[in-house]
Amino acid sequence: MAPHTETDLRRAIESDEIVPYFQPIVELRSGLLTGFEVLARWQHPRHGTVAPDEFIPVAEKAGLNGLLLGKLLRSAFAISAHIPSHLTLSVNISLTQLTDRTLTRHIRQAAEQSSFPLNRLVLEITESALVGDTEHAYLIANELKEQGSHLALDDFGTGYSSLRHLQALPFDEIKVDASFVRTMTHTRESRKIAAAIIGLGNSLGLITVAEGVESATHADMLLWLGCQRGQGFLYGRPVPVEGLQELLMIRTIF
Ligand code: C2E
Ligand code: CA
Ligand code: CA
Ligand code: CA
Repeated sequence: MAPHTETDLRRAIESDEIVPYFQPIVELRSGLLTGFEVLARWQHPRHGTVAPDEFIPVAEKAGLNGLLLGKLLRSAFAISAHIPSHLTLSVNISLTQLTDRTLTRHIRQAAEQSSFPLNRLVLEITESALVGDTEHAYLIANELKEQGSHLALDDFGTGYSSLRHLQALPFDEIKVDASFVRTMTHTRESRKIAAAIIGLGNSLGLITVAEGVESATHADMLLWLGCQRGQGFLYGRPVPVEGLQELLMIRTIF
C-alpha cells in the first residue's frame, strides 16, 4: 500500500473517516469494567480499517493531530451518553500536542458540547511526548490536571527517564507496557521487572494498569504482583461503537 499522504489524511479527518474504537479496561480482581481506552481507527473507503501506527505519525508531522484529537474526542464524548456514568474514557495524547497551548481549551470545549465531566477523562501520555521541551510539556500537563482530567503515564518503562517524569508530574495512573506482560511469564528477570514497576506504582499511590493481558495466566500473575487493572484481548479487543453495547452487557452485569 502506498504511504498515506497529508492530503489523504486531512480529507479523511474532515469527512469523519477517523473513528474511535473502544477497548475495555477492567479491575483484575473482579473482572468489572472500569472504563475504555479510545483508540483511533481510519475507516478507509478503499483500504478498510487502517491502524493508528500508520497514520498517527503522519498526523504528527503534518500538524493535523489537533484536528484529529478534536474529532475523536467529539465522537467519543457523544457516544459516552450511552455508557454508564461511572466509567472512564482514556485518550492518547502525543508529542506535539503537549506543546500546544490550545490543547486544554479544546478538550474543555469538546467535553462541554456533550456535557462530559472531565473527571471521567484519563489522558494517556507516552514518554516520547515528554522529551524535547519538557518544561513546556509539564506546564500543559499540569493545566490538564487542574482542569479535572486524570493523567496516566503510558507505556511505562519503555522510554527514557520515566522516573523523572513520575517525580515531576501529577500522574494518577501508570500503564505497564505490554512488553513486560508478554515476557513476564517466561523468565524470572522479566517477572522481577514487572513486579518492581507495579510495586513502584503502588508505593506512589498510583493506579496500576497492565496492557496486553492476553491470558488468564497473565491476569493471575499480575494480580499476584499487586496490579489493579488490566486491558487486553482476554477482556476484549477494541470495538467500534456498534460493538459497545454488547461489551457493556457482558462486563457490567455481575
Ligand atoms: P497504546 O496506547 O499502547 O495502545 C494499546 C495498543 O495495544 C492498541 O493498539 C491495542 O489495540 C493493542 N492491544 C490491546 N490489547 C492487546 C493485547 O492483548 N495484545 C496485543 N498484542 N495488543 C493489544 P492500536 O490500537 O493499534 O494502537 C497503537 C498505538 O497507537 C497506541 O498504543 C497509541 O500509542 C497510538 N494511538 C492509538 N490511538 C491514538 C490516538 O487517538 N492518538 C494518539 N496520539 N495515539 C494513538
Ligand atoms: Ca495508550
Ligand atoms: Ca500504552
Ligand atoms: Ca504499549
